[in-house]
Amino acid sequence: MLLLGGTEEARALSHRCEGMTLLTSLAGVTTAPASYGGSVRLGGFGGAVGLAEYLRRDAIAAVIDATHPFAAQISMNAARACAGADVPLLRLERLPWVASANDRWISFDTVAAAIHALPAGATAFVAAGRSAARIAAPGRRLILRAIEPPSDPAPGVEVLLARPPFTLAAERDLFQREGVTHLICKNSGGTSGYAKLEAAAALGLTVHMVRRPPPLPVTRVQTVDAALRWLADVANGAPNVVHGA
Ligand code: NAP
Repeated sequence: MLLLGGTEEARALSHRCEGMTLLTSLAGVTTAPASYGGSVRLGGFGGAVGLAEYLRRDAIAAVIDATHPFAAQISMNAARACAGADVPLLRLERLPWVASANDRWISFDTVAAAIHALPAGATAFVAAGRSAARIAAPGRRLILRAIEPPSDPAPGVEVLLARPPFTLAAERDLFQREGVTHLICKNSGGTSGYAKLEAAAALGLTVHMVRRPPPLPVTRVQTVDAALRWLADVANGAPNVVHGA
């Protein structure tokens, strides 16, 4: 089984795949990746064509795409490659966050749009990935949090290096200390990044929330347990198993 990883779900699944030969693939973008069960390979495949070749060459029996909800390119490649190589594919993707009554969210399609919509004089806390550091917003203060230093940050972007998880109390203190008025984040879902949203709601901050890319027409589940059931179906040759998009 080939597991496309880079998320907490992928890591959790990898540790529960006893009795099968598991290879997890990581993009290789972080210098200290988390530990996975089974074997791990690093780096790209060379697009959908390269991935399809890889699936055939290594006689991969099934692929689970458990990459991040915003890693749209590798998910598209997986769908095309699995369809081309006739390999069963499952998308494991956690549910998005949903705004509650206390939340003040405005939705955007891209991180750039979310940043460019900040009002003049805003102080924004940007938790939207390292690449967001390249987006300049003159007249606004941007504090960008990342695990590793971004390459080529735009002038004036303040970088805060920190590794999750973060508690609600710590997020609230940080936002208050820095005079944050807006939070910019992607709708990643999950529990580990949720404290910043709770803190924003508690302080009445406006959240510029970046929507997920549109879903691909592939079989999808939201939990590791459901992914394990699908793997059992694959092993048993169940007829409901779909090969790619
Ligand atoms: P992306 O834009 O969808 O993919 C860009 C390229 O990176 C792909 O075309 C592929 O190269 C390679 N790639 C991505 N994931 C890979 C994997 N698991 N194994 C092998 N190659 C992979 O991806 P991204 O948004 O840069 O994210 C990169 C990785 O970080 C993903 O694995 C994702 O799960 C993780 N991550 C992403 C985010 C996010 O917000 N985007 C957040 C947390 C974690 P080739 O075309 O050469 O195969």
